[in-house]
Amino acid sequence: MATNKKKLLITESMSQLGWELFNARDDIEIVEFSNLISAADFSKLIEEQAPVHGVALGATRFGEPELEASRDMKVVARIGVGYDAVDVAALSKRKVPLMIAGTANSPSVAEQALFMMLTLAKRAVELHALVKDGKWSTRLGLLPFDLFGKTVLVVGFGRIGTRTAKRCQAMEMNVLVYDPYVSADTIKAAGCEPVSDLDAVLPRADFVSLHCPKTPETTGLFNAARIARMKPSAYLINTARGGIIVEAALHDALVSGKLAGAGLDVFEAEPPPLGHALFELPNVIIAPHVAGVTREALDRMGAQTARNMLSVLDGEPIKQNAVNADVFG
Ligand code: NAD
Repeated sequence: MATNKKKLLITESMSQLGWELFNARDDIEIVEFSNLISAADFSKLIEEQAPVHGVALGATRFGEPELEASRDMKVVARIGVGYDAVDVAALSKRKVPLMIAGTANSPSVAEQALFMMLTLAKRAVELHALVKDGKWSTRLGLLPFDLFGKTVLVVGFGRIGTRTAKRCQAMEMNVLVYDPYVSADTIKAAGCEPVSDLDAVLPRADFVSLHCPKTPETTGLFNAARIARMKPSAYLINTARGGIIVEAALHDALVSGKLAGAGLDVFEAEPPPLGHALFELPNVIIAPHVAGVTREALDRMGAQTARNMLSVLDGEPIKQNAVNADVFG
């Protein structure tokens, strides 16, 4: 029996629901590892635990050296959907599938994007402080504004971008969509306006909400030149990945009044350094990369990750959750 067991390395951030699915199987052996493990220690752990048949990753990087340490690897899974920390080409070369958690956290991230737009529009942080500080009489100097009738540009129209667009439509906003890989017809069918030229459309948007992956093409997409094309009254929201916005350029635009504000769940370096210049600005709201890790999303992601890994090991892969489904032949 023991010889047929498959050994999986699972990061501690796996949810209870995920553990339950693994624990219900007597052909699976689990080794837990810390989400904070260093690259060198992770490779060592994989080697020590050989044969390892699967890995479920939180934020841990996974690439060639880790694959070298694990010749028996059958499946790599992310307890999430972003995979910029995984070397997909290296996995594909070895015919190892990379599984992601599908739509498990999409509604959660879309909610966070809308929450950031509302928090900025309603000046929630400043008005909360104003009341507490006994400055009631100054309140008309800090007027909130409505999302109703405003224009939002959604960049990236996948699982999260489509849901963000829907939530913005519920606020009766005009929704523009920039996604070079989604057809104009699909975008129109969702009641949004497709745009093909990012630079040309930026001056129209009151909000820009980022929902594209971090790739060589999107890294630095919002640099000084692009931010300069936005209206001085506009807000930039990033719940996608740090590095898609050039933080120094964002800071310059915010302090010089060329941009009204920003909502950031993700940063160039995570955790960001203490005393980061952006954090001192009153028109910036920040969160510690938690958009996709609500309580419910964690449960859904854990369960989906377990189902994804078991499906591969059982020879019936959930192909729509595979980033490199071609490895299944
Ligand atoms: P997805 O793959 O379903 O959608 C991404 C969309 O971006 C696709 O439609 C793709 O065509 C589009 N795209 C690719 N390159 C583009 C470009 N240059 N310009 C515009 N659009 C482009 O992914 P998803 O599930 O919607 O997730 C999107 C991203 O959100 C993930 O890659 C991840 O980095 C991030 N994310 C963050 C959190 C968080 O906690 N903050 C949680 C989940 C996901």
